[in-house]
Amino acid sequence: ESSDGRIWLATSKGISVVDPNTITEIGNLPPEVNIESVKADNEPVIFGEELSADTDRIVFEFVAPGYLMAEHIDYQVRLEGFDEDWVDKNSFNSVEYTTLPAKDYVFQVRARYPGGQWSQPDYFSFRQSAHFWMQPWFWIIASLITALLVLVVVRARLNQYNRTRLQLEQMVKEKTADLETMARQDPLTNLGNRRAFDERLQHELNRCRRDGTYLSLVIIDVDYFKEVNDRYLHTIGDKVLIRLAEILNDEIRDIDYVARWGGEEFAVLITNSELEIAREASERMRERIATTLFDDLVEDMKITVSIGVASSYDYADHSSLLVAADKALYQAKSEGRNRVESKP
Ligand code: GH3
Ligand code: MG
Ligand code: MG
Repeated sequence: ESSDGRIWLATSKGISVVDPNTITEIGNLPPEVNIESVKADNEPVIFGEELSADTDRIVFEFVAPGYLMAEHIDYQVRLEGFDEDWVDKNSFNSVEYTTLPAKDYVFQVRARYPGGQWSQPDYFSFRQSAHFWMQPWFWIIASLITALLVLVVVRARLNQYNRTRLQLEQMVKEKTADLETMARQDPLTNLGNRRAFDERLQHELNRCRRDGTYLSLVIIDVDYFKEVNDRYLHTIGDKVLIRLAEILNDEIRDIDYVARWGGEEFAVLITNSELEIAREASERMRERIATTLFDDLVEDMKITVSIGVASSYDYADHSSLLVAADKALYQAKSEGRNRVESKP
């Protein structure tokens, strides 16, 4: 400061002299402000540039090159698209923004002397770009693809579910059929069991009554079978029963029906045949068994059966037919076994 009250200042343009008395006049004229540098992540940015999506930090430096009271110049900045209003920077002549959302921006800066008027702003436009995954179209497409995938997966699941359901239904059907078969089948001989036989008998009786034809019932009981078990082994007895089932199956016609009636008893239904024909068929069965060699089981083993036959075309229910056949069987046993007896 010199004796006349003027202030001497060292500036970049040389020596500057300021008379404080004139400051108020000069202060009414706002200083001109210039954006000096714009750097994005330390790289210079040109006007209107599109900044890469990776940009982290953008720094603006500006200056109002007044000789007067440079450190007293006030700045205000405003980033259009980001700031609502002007932001005071006081005498601070730079500003930085970090991780700006993708958008078009215009940076503005203005300056004034303390208490003076604001200058015309200097401005700088640029655009912050976004990663493709930040763009709306990406999300629209991604959502569509996701929805499509979900649809495909759901449909595939539904198909799978339907297939599984059909498979399960099929399995249940098969298992049910198996159980039904098992419930009506003798596991040793694979012939029908008593239950199957009773059903078949009732069915055939109804049919014969309707058609006015004969139905013959044959009951076959192995003679002295207890001895077979006692003398040999129970397993030999089983094998004999299996063999007898095979023989009986072989002897009957396709339309006839043979079942394992009880322990060592078999029953045969001979359809459309009156007593005499059923007797002949029974005789053939008895004869065939009596002459069969069971050598492969036990050497010289012979098996005979006693047979009771009953025949009818108008029995009301199957029990009468059974009683008659049973009586005939009893008679065959008491008259010496290995023979056929019959009741009308
Ligand atoms: P009968 O000439 O009077 O018929 O004499 P039987 O010994 O055959 O008569 P009984 O009814 O007293 O004996 C039948 C025997 O059949 C008794 C039982 O041990 C045997 N048996 C019944 N079911 C089976 C079977 O599944 N396997 C075997 N091995 N034996 C059986
Ligand atoms: Mg018996
Ligand atoms: Mg017996």
